[in-house]
Amino acid sequence: MRIFDGHNDVLTSCEPQEFAGGRDGGHMDLPRCEAAGLGGGIFAVFVASPGDEHLTLGTGGSYEVELPPAIEHADALASATVSAGKLFVLEAMGAVRVARSTADLDTTDRIVAVLHLEGAEAIAPDLANLETWYEAGLRSLGPVWSRPNHFGHGVPFAFPSGADTGPGLTSAGRELVRRCNDLGIVVDVSHLNEQGFWDVATLSKAPLVASHSGAHALCACSRNLNDEQIDAIGGTGGLVGVVFANPFVREDGADDDDTPLSTIVAHVRHIADRIGIDHVALGSDFDGAGIPRAMGDVTGLPLLLDALVDAGFSHEDVAKVAWWNWRRVLGASWSE
Ligand SMILES: [Zn+2]
Repeated sequence: MRIFDGHNDVLTSCEPQEFAGGRDGGHMDLPRCEAAGLGGGIFAVFVASPGDEHLTLGTGGSYEVELPPAIEHADALASATVSAGKLFVLEAMGAVRVARSTADLDTTDRIVAVLHLEGAEAIAPDLANLETWYEAGLRSLGPVWSRPNHFGHGVPFAFPSGADTGPGLTSAGRELVRRCNDLGIVVDVSHLNEQGFWDVATLSKAPLVASHSGAHALCACSRNLNDEQIDAIGGTGGLVGVVFANPFVREDGADDDDTPLSTIVAHVRHIADRIGIDHVALGSDFDGAGIPRAMGDVTGLPLLLDALVDAGFSHEDVAKVAWWNWRRVLGASWSE
């Protein structure tokens, strides 16, 4: 079965040669992606705040992680162009096809890679370089990561906590949503606080996408979506890519990899029960978070699909979760 995964941080965690040739450790590289049957994924460009490379989430009980500081646009741009460049090196090596159009998503000779900015600090506050990023291949962005920037306010990591943690999008953030709609760039609501989410929901003409989030009803982490948000996403024909990160899926919010795959299945079930199987997909956070040992790395993806079948989902439904829902929503969001 073809698999599309909605979020990985492999561009932050290794060099192109390591990805293409295989490496020890990490969650993914080309040989393991091929072994897993991964057909495509969203490859995030992430810029860490200075001194904040190691984000420590709770190992049990309640926790609250202080918001990382904002990053200057010039610094973020310098870093992001290097990370994005790794994806173009991989494209030149023939390891991936950077998906710039819906037709690209339907090619099967290589992994199709969607370029994503996780936090839009690399976009100029006046959006003057947004078109440049689009022409390079950018087809998805989150206005914020979990920190404030010129466009809005990310949700701090906390458990137990809702996502209603501050003001919504700035005027620049609202303009960013409009321009992304016009160009055909997905606006990803994962990492936005709740007011920012509702601002995107009000403004955006595209299906709402949460690329790597869980259901707050099952794990009361600030990064997760409450039922009202999930319902809103379903109402636009969008999707939730269910995250695999231990602290965002476990009921106790702990960063503990002794987490059965049934925990992830429960999030798929909850979202499908509320808004339908057409609106739930995968959003691992490979190479960006601790994931269940039962998954291990990207090669564990087929085990999750088996677990969905074992839980009673039909093969047709699992194929939607695995590939077709992302395919539909990206196709509906892009302009070419
Ligand atoms: Zn993330």
